[in-house]
Amino acid sequence: MYTRMNAFLQAELEQIKSAGLYKEERVLVSPQSAEITLINGARVLNFCANNYLGLADHPRLIEAAKEALDTHGYGMSSVRFICGTTDLHKVLEQKIAEFFGTEDTILYAAAFDANGGVFEPLLGPKDAIISDTLNHASIIDGVRLCKAELYRFANANMEQLEERLILAQEHNFRLIVTDGVFSMDGNVAPMDKIVELANKYDAMVMVDECHSAGVVGPTGRGVTELFNLRGEVEIITGTLGKAFGGAIGGFTTGKKEIIALLRQRSRPYLFSNSLPPHIVNAGIRMFEMMSETSELQDRLHENTTYFVEHMKAAGFDLKPTKSAICAVMLYDAFLSKQMADMLLEEGIYVIGFSFPVVPKGQARIRVQLSAGHTRAHLDKAIAAFTKVGRKLGVIQ
Ligand SMILES: *Cc1c(COP(=O)(O)O)cnc(C)c1O
Repeated sequence: MYTRMNAFLQAELEQIKSAGLYKEERVLVSPQSAEITLINGARVLNFCANNYLGLADHPRLIEAAKEALDTHGYGMSSVRFICGTTDLHKVLEQKIAEFFGTEDTILYAAAFDANGGVFEPLLGPKDAIISDTLNHASIIDGVRLCKAELYRFANANMEQLEERLILAQEHNFRLIVTDGVFSMDGNVAPMDKIVELANKYDAMVMVDECHSAGVVGPTGRGVTELFNLRGEVEIITGTLGKAFGGAIGGFTTGKKEIIALLRQRSRPYLFSNSLPPHIVNAGIRMFEMMSETSELQDRLHENTTYFVEHMKAAGFDLKPTKSAICAVMLYDAFLSKQMADMLLEEGIYVIGFSFPVVPKGQARIRVQLSAGHTRAHLDKAIAAFTKVGRKLGVIQ
């Protein structure tokens, strides 16, 4: 059998390569940071990590992780409900709820699992999920595992959302689901309008804050802070793998009865291992740091504004952003890849995105800003973009 399967796989791989979609992995040999070392020895500035607050190599988080290795050991060897819950897990869940102004939190191995395990326990065949078409893959997969009827609305399109809500009136429960920040454009979900429509048409709201938590809102509490809706949506999902230290781990936080039922019925929680204590302790330290000051958020917001203003002044076409994601529009797939390669030669690590990750004719370079970037890093990136952009005729 494998002889035939092998031929099939090779053909598939060839097809991916010939379509120019084969993903190569660049190998780092340094910690994740604003400045990284590649395996060929090159030191480059990193503008493509989700390390929004620059915490991925933060000494206080490393220290917290080391402490917990000594006090709580290495692994849990259990799911939460058998013997995988430590005092640390309980504290982290509480810190996350405090951060978002919610009632309770449940931890998962990743946000992919949080989204994968949230719908099926809560909603059945009589219910409806109304989902933004640009929602993350993990939401799409989570919805597939649930028997509720699916309605989709175009990205942030409130007229379509309203139409779908009207269609969904016959269902028992309705849940609107959206990403907080959409990762390709950096736009935010119009949470004010979403909540207004949810109230008008009697629906609940779930927001995935993976790209917005730590980033969006004056103190980085995410889109519910940005729109003055703290504590007002029923379900928030998020990750510890982006702004919050970048290691691993996900969570669902919100109404306490929802969290309580998820602990009983959510399959990725019941049937997958508990997060290791050193990751959990570093998470606790991270939320303590967040409650002391919003200095990192301030720096991130300053950096984003500085980068966007200088890139616009240089003549680049940028998507309007409300997050730390800045899409430099090139429209052409080949040009995007070529420009990213040339920028790497200038010591700037960014990635070009093209179809099918973004719509056809919407190719771009996505720049991700971080509180870990210094003014000198930003100036170097802007100068490299300007030099390469001129060479390729993207700007004058
Ligand atoms: C990154 C991301 C996830 C997955 O997070 P992990 O913790 O890495 O699994 C889920 N949803 C959104 C919107 C994301 O950006």
